[in-house]
Amino acid sequence: METKKVQAEDEESLPTSTTPLLLNNINTSSSQNKPTLLLNLITCMSLITAITFSLLFFSLSPPSTTTATARHLNKLHHPTVILISSDGFRFGYQHKTSTPNIHRLITNGTEALTGLIPVFPTLTFPNHYSIVTGLYPPHHGIINNFFFDPVTGEKFTMASHESKWWLGQPLWQTVVNSGKIAATYFWPGSEVKKGSWTCDDVKYCKHYNGSVSFEDRVDTVLDYFDLDLDDIPVFMTLYFEDPDHQGHQVGPDDDEVTQAVARIDGIIGRLIHGLEKRGVFEDVSIIMVGDHGMVGTCDQKLIFLDDLASWVEIKSNWVHSYSPLLAIWPPSDSNYSLTDVVAKMNEGLSSGKVENGNKLKVFLKEDLPKRLHYAESDRIPPIIGLVHEGYKVEQSRTGKKECGGAHGYDNEFFSMRTIFIGHGPQFERGKKIPSFENVEIYNLITSILNIKGAPNNGSDSFPQSVLLPKA
Ligand SMILES: [Zn+2]
Repeated sequence: METKKVQAEDEESLPTSTTPLLLNNINTSSSQNKPTLLLNLITCMSLITAITFSLLFFSLSPPSTTTATARHLNKLHHPTVILISSDGFRFGYQHKTSTPNIHRLITNGTEALTGLIPVFPTLTFPNHYSIVTGLYPPHHGIINNFFFDPVTGEKFTMASHESKWWLGQPLWQTVVNSGKIAATYFWPGSEVKKGSWTCDDVKYCKHYNGSVSFEDRVDTVLDYFDLDLDDIPVFMTLYFEDPDHQGHQVGPDDDEVTQAVARIDGIIGRLIHGLEKRGVFEDVSIIMVGDHGMVGTCDQKLIFLDDLASWVEIKSNWVHSYSPLLAIWPPSDSNYSLTDVVAKMNEGLSSGKVENGNKLKVFLKEDLPKRLHYAESDRIPPIIGLVHEGYKVEQSRTGKKECGGAHGYDNEFFSMRTIFIGHGPQFERGKKIPSFENVEIYNLITSILNIKGAPNNGSDSFPQSVLLPKA
């Protein structure tokens, strides 16, 4: 497969501008009041402090030694990876409040200094499945959280577990193919039967149930380490819905999100302490990521499709998703060609007569910027709109007042970035690496596990740029 990089929207818990936006985007919720501003200021200062210290560390550290090698396993028989996702954990949240456990992993491990870059669209299902397949959404098939099969008209939802939707080879299947054991404690796609991965044994393949406490999830993974050494899965996933849930409700700068981040840190602490108790913490590779970030949205940042009626009438049944990913599929018997629809929409949007019209631009999918990797699938509707950060598209005015948070935007926005932390025998302590796209993680994990991976969009050289060489 051609080596290229890509990514959709949601409320379940499932979009980056570049450097100059680093500080702006920490504080984008519009529901700001004085305490929030103060909190934001502290967040900013923490982030500046963290980055300053990191840079100081670089400048004071001797040049990276080329002799460092991976640390030996003390107890486990095989390299073992626990892949953790904290949904909607926007890059920078780790500095919102005291997060001693996450910082223990950062200090003694390797961190993406300016965060992990999600695929477009920056939605939960497309991103989680890119992380475990190394594929951009058009290649792994999960192009949005909801979409239609263009041939049969069937609808994919986040509860669809038929293998026809889920393309590519996820890590759990790769691990089983190599004759080793994998275990999933929730992850989009993990319940799908694919080849050697049958998900028959609920001991190793948990069926999604959001009411299971985070503590129970961690404890179950810890229990695996009480099995005979050769029965311990070499690859495990853990998924937590927070802080995405709170981010949608109240926006990224609210105290509820801070509390959720503190709780996730406590859960990471529970995992660390459980592994330490079993004498395997330093043997296990812990990879902590999020699927995407979060940005504040409010109703004054709206674009209404009905406002375009003088140029072209966009019927609601043409719209497969509104916001932040605008996806439009006009019926073949409409009076307009796809090219006409795009031209007329953009004419209206740029006329100066449509409220916030300059905050949205629509494209034929094949004309989207190539960096988005969002064209090569029949499942992707033919017309895609890119909306400015924090804006939302709706059909018509409802007068409803809402302030909250969203993701799904262009993955170039910094607010859509999330975290990457790697801790374990092959991760150098205190190492900082540049931001990278999450399609690289598949090869990173197969490299740690020493197993052969399936072809994917990650680069072959990435693992060696991050990992310590084996001794
Ligand atoms: Zn979400």
